[in-house]
Amino acid sequence: MTRYSRQELFAPIGLQGQARLRQQRVLLVGCGALGTHLAEFCVRAGVGQLIIVDRDFVEPSNLQRQCLFTESDAANATPKAEAARKALAGVNSDVTITAHVADFTWRNAARLANGATLILDATDNFETRFLINDLAVQTGTPWVYAACVGARATCMPVVPGRSACLRCMLDDQPAAGGDTCDTAGIIMPAVLQAVAWASVVALKIMTGNEAALFKKLYTSDLWTGERQILDASTPRADCPCCSRRELDWLAGRRASSAATLCGRDSVQLAAPERFDWQAARNAIRTAARMTTENEYLLRAESGDLTITLYRDGRAIVHGTDQPAAARSLYARLVG
Ligand SMILES: [Zn+2]
Repeated sequence: MTRYSRQELFAPIGLQGQARLRQQRVLLVGCGALGTHLAEFCVRAGVGQLIIVDRDFVEPSNLQRQCLFTESDAANATPKAEAARKALAGVNSDVTITAHVADFTWRNAARLANGATLILDATDNFETRFLINDLAVQTGTPWVYAACVGARATCMPVVPGRSACLRCMLDDQPAAGGDTCDTAGIIMPAVLQAVAWASVVALKIMTGNEAALFKKLYTSDLWTGERQILDASTPRADCPCCSRRELDWLAGRRASSAATLCGRDSVQLAAPERFDWQAARNAIRTAARMTTENEYLLRAESGDLTITLYRDGRAIVHGTDQPAAARSLYARLVG
């Protein structure tokens, strides 16, 4: 019996579907609760390549629902993309796994996607989802929208030109202040529901079973049993994205250089155009109290604020939700 025999025995996949899986290059944006499970699914199922992009590092509060990560990853503040790559490398050596410790932005989106045949959304914010939608529409790449918060799970397949896109369903990013995992919490069953939906959508697309897709926006609350299913089978004739081709997020017109990370009392600052990691490290060593340092990032305290600085110059300032306060600390420590 071969490694994939049980999957090949499943009639709609068969040997042919398995061979198609091998040709897939999957871009996974986000590697938290949804992302770690989706990454494991892709690697065990036998895709050809998996590209993992994540901007965060492992924290103790992730371990309750994010598989692949360990207590030592949390203690060492290992970047999630790298921790996932290491964990999965021993699971299936046939899969080429690439990890990018980076924020997925309009500047690097096309380069990171690099000919992806499928994009999986495992992000926690709509700015990135609208960017993924723009990129997918521009390149004609299918993508899967997935989300979970509290006990609620959501999923929708997007096949550009052959189904509704995200902007057909949602004209614009929802206003800030909606529930997030940091304000409303999250339980594992909601993660697993979203993962089950997203991975079966991915499996259908990757094995040549697009005709079997349910082109719907599913939402389910696993605690109350409430469900909502909206039709998403047809592109909207007046959709600004897939009909009028106004790709505002991909063009950078909707990008924020400082993003308040909702519910986390933190602000993320985009990397500056020019950045010198060695010089920044030296400056921070003299001006603040260094608490963590590894090959990907450093963390230092200054007064009530903590800064996490990545090698590419991007930073997360903890202890404030004010972009101005975060910028001022960055300017003071890094320049
Ligand atoms: Zn559309």
